[in-house]
Amino acid sequence: MADATQSSKERVRKFVIFFTFFLIIFTAAVQVFLVQREIGYIGLFLPPTLVFVSMTVINYWKCVKVDSSAKSAGKAPSIQTDGWRYCPYSGCSGSVPINSRHCHQCDICIIQRDHHCHFVAKCIGQNSLPFFMVLITSMFGLTLTYCSANLIYITTHETPGTLLLTVVAPIQVLWYFLGYVSLSHCLISLNIVISFTAFIGSIILNYHEYNLLFHNKPYLTKSMPIASSGVLKMSKLDRIREVFGKKWYKFYVDPTHQSTVQKQYGVTKVM
Ligand SMILES: [Zn+2]
Ligand SMILES: [Zn+2]
Repeated sequence: MADATQSSKERVRKFVIFFTFFLIIFTAAVQVFLVQREIGYIGLFLPPTLVFVSMTVINYWKCVKVDSSAKSAGKAPSIQTDGWRYCPYSGCSGSVPINSRHCHQCDICIIQRDHHCHFVAKCIGQNSLPFFMVLITSMFGLTLTYCSANLIYITTHETPGTLLLTVVAPIQVLWYFLGYVSLSHCLISLNIVISFTAFIGSIILNYHEYNLLFHNKPYLTKSMPIASSGVLKMSKLDRIREVFGKKWYKFYVDPTHQSTVQKQYGVTKVM
């Protein structure tokens, strides 16, 4: 029974990952071939589109692949020692790093758990957080590029009368099947709605996540419990270095970069 639940969970996870990849590539193709080529600013919009799509795809894949679970901390001691605690839930039922929190969806403890991400279909924790931060930053850049191109498209190709119909994408899909609009108009309409929704979503997500990052959260940091109690105030730069490592900026420009913070998968002792 447990195995059946596990395999259905795995199937859902694979579907979510496949669907997200499909959505990224599909919206990019519609943007470039229908919107950007049509408005004639391809030289202006294509380079940022390619850069941000690559950054989004690579960092999304890293979030999917990188393990932040308690197992990534190495072999757990069989007796209780400093830096470890006991987790009673079935997925763990043993020693886990003290700076980890149990996720009931993943059914395992995650080191410095940030949140359970439904798009990645797993938790974002210590080892994947840097990639997640770059992912949401590049998502913002990508959707900003799309929305700018879409805005030019709307102002040059739409009248106020057709605009309302264009931004109501579900009606466009129906219109297409009834033969009132072309497939390309229907796809552009979908692209406008998806990009605008993702743009607003990415603003909220970036604000929320950078706010957490700068204010000593996720609260189970390495300096726990001193940081979470507010006694130890870290500067924003120190906080960035704690999560990303000293060369934090490399994550934003070099997709192959991996920091020493991530390689030290072991537990940092509580001071
Ligand atoms: Zn646990
Ligand atoms: Zn989780």
